[in-house]
Amino acid sequence: MTFASLGLIDPLLRALDGLDYRTPTPVQAQAIPAVLKGRDVLAAAQTGTGKTAGFALPLLQKLTMEGSQVASNSVRALVLVPTRELAEQLQQSIQQYGQHLPLRSYAVYGGVSINPQMMKLRKGIDLLVATPGRLLDLYRQNAVKFDQLQALVLDEADRMLDLGFSRELDELFTALPRRRQTLLFSATFSDAIRQMAKELLRDPLNIEVSPRNAAATSVKQWLIPVDKKRKSELFLHLYRNKRWDQVLVFVKTRKGVDELEQALLAAGIAADSIHGDKPQPSRLRALQRFKAGEVRVLAATDVAARGLDIDDLPLVVNFDLPIVAEDYVHRIGRTGRAGATGQAVSLVCADEVQLLSAIEVLIRQSLARYEESDFIPDHRVPQTDATGQVLKKPKKPKKPKVVGGKGGLGKWMEADEPSAPPVKAVRKVPSFGGKPKKKP
Ligand code: AMP
Repeated sequence: MTFASLGLIDPLLRALDGLDYRTPTPVQAQAIPAVLKGRDVLAAAQTGTGKTAGFALPLLQKLTMEGSQVASNSVRALVLVPTRELAEQLQQSIQQYGQHLPLRSYAVYGGVSINPQMMKLRKGIDLLVATPGRLLDLYRQNAVKFDQLQALVLDEADRMLDLGFSRELDELFTALPRRRQTLLFSATFSDAIRQMAKELLRDPLNIEVSPRNAAATSVKQWLIPVDKKRKSELFLHLYRNKRWDQVLVFVKTRKGVDELEQALLAAGIAADSIHGDKPQPSRLRALQRFKAGEVRVLAATDVAARGLDIDDLPLVVNFDLPIVAEDYVHRIGRTGRAGATGQAVSLVCADEVQLLSAIEVLIRQSLARYEESDFIPDHRVPQTDATGQVLKKPKKPKKPKVVGGKGGLGKWMEADEPSAPPVKAVRKVPSFGGKPKKKP
């Protein structure tokens, strides 16, 4: 199958040629003809499936072929996204896809001054990407009007609800014309998402390109049990010994991100970070430096878990497991994109066993465990499986180890401390990693 056979016009085909997109991905093959025909779409598609082009290409085509010229302060198609980073990224993709078309696209999001955005909107925008909060601000200040709106896309709808945007969304929905085309993309489907889909979509085409709530199959996933306080040390050890090339590492808290970044910089590793406390320009700069390969390790909170598209990212590390199991799927979706293979390793401590169990239930598989010989935890991580069972009373090890003095004997003697059951999945850490280092 080719993009031409899906009915796309020449300027779009030329742009795709330039980007070296040869064959439509499954979500593109299904969504493009349906959107061109004007149908609503409900798609269960995670990031990495090519969903952006799946909705952007046909919308750009329709905006070119149909409707009148955009009036000042108006928008003709609107894409709502949960985060600023995703808004920027989508806008970049849309600009690339539409580079040969006479259309204007733009992204608005919070955390930066609203005035330049108001100025930009004055001329009118054909395709606007927006986060809900900032768009509502702009709407309330009459900087944007929706009477010309012909299409609405909700991208990463589940994340928008997770981030608490449902009130803003409701207010925006009432401001939009009822006659319009609506496309809803979500990686996971809670009752709230289903309800939203029921209210917003008319006879939608249902697209499901991978099993619901399943993690990308092209990603090899495993975990390494470790004591909480030794995570940084283990990360540094793995980074050096496994010759990791480029790593996106997720840490639970902003403070944790900063601490890991400092430890990496102190060890002479080019690192940067993104989290909610950092101003938007420095977040974008960190991402750009990481994409350009100037930075080897990018530490992030879950603000970066969605939508970020980084070419050929070989490895995602969960320094901490996410509190919300679905975020695991989004985090590891940063690797193994568009058919490439990726790796996702989680450093798991005993405190995180319930989070681990919830993740395994969600992805319907138990994660393989590999122990690192110098980092066998004092506080063993109980065995879990995809049924949600946590083996609470594992056998105690016969002899306490005092090797390395970490934790010491006292730790082993704690009364209710879980220890490892006989684990058949325990293997040596595989020798994955980046390209061999070039000799100077
Ligand atoms: P998305 O799921 O939309 O974030 O896309 C994931 C990645 O796949 C992005 O880097 C896209 O540029 C890339 N991509 C999307 N569609 C194709 C295609 N048909 N051929 C090659 N790469 C693609």
